[in-house]
Amino acid sequence: MPIPQPAPTPFADKSFWLSSAPYTPNAPLAGDLTVDVAVLGGGYTGLATAYFLKKAEPSLRVALLESEVIGFGASGRNGGFSMTLFGLTLSVTASLFGKEKARQAHHYMEQAVELVETLVREHQLECDYERPGFLRVATAPLYVKRIHEEVELAQRLGLEGIEWIDAETTRREVNSPLYLGAWREPRCGLVNPAKLAWEFKRLILSLGVQVFEHTPGTAIERRAGGLLIHTPQGTVTAGKLALATNAYSHLIPMLRRKQVPAFTHIVLTEPLRPEHFAEMGWRARQGIEDARNLVHYYRLTRDNRLLMGGRDVSLTVGGDMDRDENPDTFAKLEADVRQLFPVLRDIRFTHRWGGPVSVPLQMIPALGYLGDERVAYSLGCMGHGVSLTHLNGWTLADLLLEKKSERTQAFFVNRRVIPWPPEPLRLLASLGILGYMHAEDAVYDRGMHVPDGA
Ligand SMILES: Cc1cc2nc3c(=O)[nH]c(=O)nc-3n(C[C@H](O)[C@H](O)[C@H](O)COP(=O)(O)OP(=O)(O)OC[C@H]3O[C@@H](n4cnc5c(N)ncnc54)[C@H](O)[C@@H]3O)c2cc1C
Repeated sequence: MPIPQPAPTPFADKSFWLSSAPYTPNAPLAGDLTVDVAVLGGGYTGLATAYFLKKAEPSLRVALLESEVIGFGASGRNGGFSMTLFGLTLSVTASLFGKEKARQAHHYMEQAVELVETLVREHQLECDYERPGFLRVATAPLYVKRIHEEVELAQRLGLEGIEWIDAETTRREVNSPLYLGAWREPRCGLVNPAKLAWEFKRLILSLGVQVFEHTPGTAIERRAGGLLIHTPQGTVTAGKLALATNAYSHLIPMLRRKQVPAFTHIVLTEPLRPEHFAEMGWRARQGIEDARNLVHYYRLTRDNRLLMGGRDVSLTVGGDMDRDENPDTFAKLEADVRQLFPVLRDIRFTHRWGGPVSVPLQMIPALGYLGDERVAYSLGCMGHGVSLTHLNGWTLADLLLEKKSERTQAFFVNRRVIPWPPEPLRLLASLGILGYMHAEDAVYDRGMHVPDGA
């Protein structure tokens, strides 16, 4: 069955990151190729899968096909937080799947954060990596209660390194009049996401992986001897196939109902000046999120711009993947930056963009075999996949090599995924869930103390 394909898109204006370094894509596939494993999708998942396949079996012939350019999807557009959050929140995971599975998921994420740092250091991936830690800030009294409960749950589960800090301590770290306390966790790195993806491409090329860009998989056929993947100018015959297409997975007939895409949006300021930091503090440069259902996430870039994303998401219908721009969300995010940090009231915003995250109905990642052991997939990283996808790549490699490991035993691997309903019910269900999240956020936000003039 054919996979619908949009025309190739210029990539540099898709995010600040994708324009932050020169990049030359590899040539498309032209002709017919035979490999042991084909990987579809050139984001972190596909790149990491190819890497771990070659690490495990250097003689394996591996080809990676990317529709556009490496990092074109979420991997080149995200906030760059390499963090431990799995699914929506720790307590939602615990209430849906039980405390033991929530603990297991958190440990998987801890390993994922360490893995990214190890790979960056070991292979000297030039991606502006830093590890400033993380704050989940309470911006209204009900969020104080919510975060307190989350921290208590983390501690009851024996998760290490997570603590509650009060308003005064929080504001000593980062000074916003809205802060009433925070979850503090040292295990969080920040990256330039596109540079990380492109450096990872350099790494896998050095291991002998063949990378083809502007090469969409347009159809997949299962045959007796393996898989036949069609592309516009050639075919790939592969013994095995990894589908690393995350938020684009509904376009692949075999994965159609396992996830839906939702677009999250980001605004970016001009570089902040010393007088701003004199007021805001933020000397340790932590990555910050709040505790709304539709979180705000914000951080500093290497050149001290403030990046803020989140607050709302844009939904799509059917195969539409054209929701990068949302002027209403951009305007609200800009107002939110000024409200959080009144010293930035005159700051200029230089970049605005968006990108797709993958949302399964149960809001946790899903990976596993598809049909038989020849095809493995990964999707559903929600808005928190920078670290997760790297470890998922290792898990996918294990699955394709038919190796049992601690990773392949994780509860969300090879788990039955509850399908989204077909359109128009899919859109109605998405609107219902989003409406509920907004309504609850509005209730929680109500107690927010907004200082005069902010
Ligand atoms: C705006 C934004 C902010 C985010 N912020 C954070 C954050 O701060 N921290 C965090 O942890 N996570 C964040 N995320 C989520 C994170 O970026 C993703 O979970 C992660 O990058 C997913 O990686 P991936 O490789 O699975 O998917 P992607 O990076 O989306 O890669 C999938 C690739 O598959 C390609 N493709 C699709 N169909 C085909 C086909 N038929 N043939 C060939 N190729 C195909 C696409 O072009 C795409 O490049 C954010 C996401 C967005 C959009």
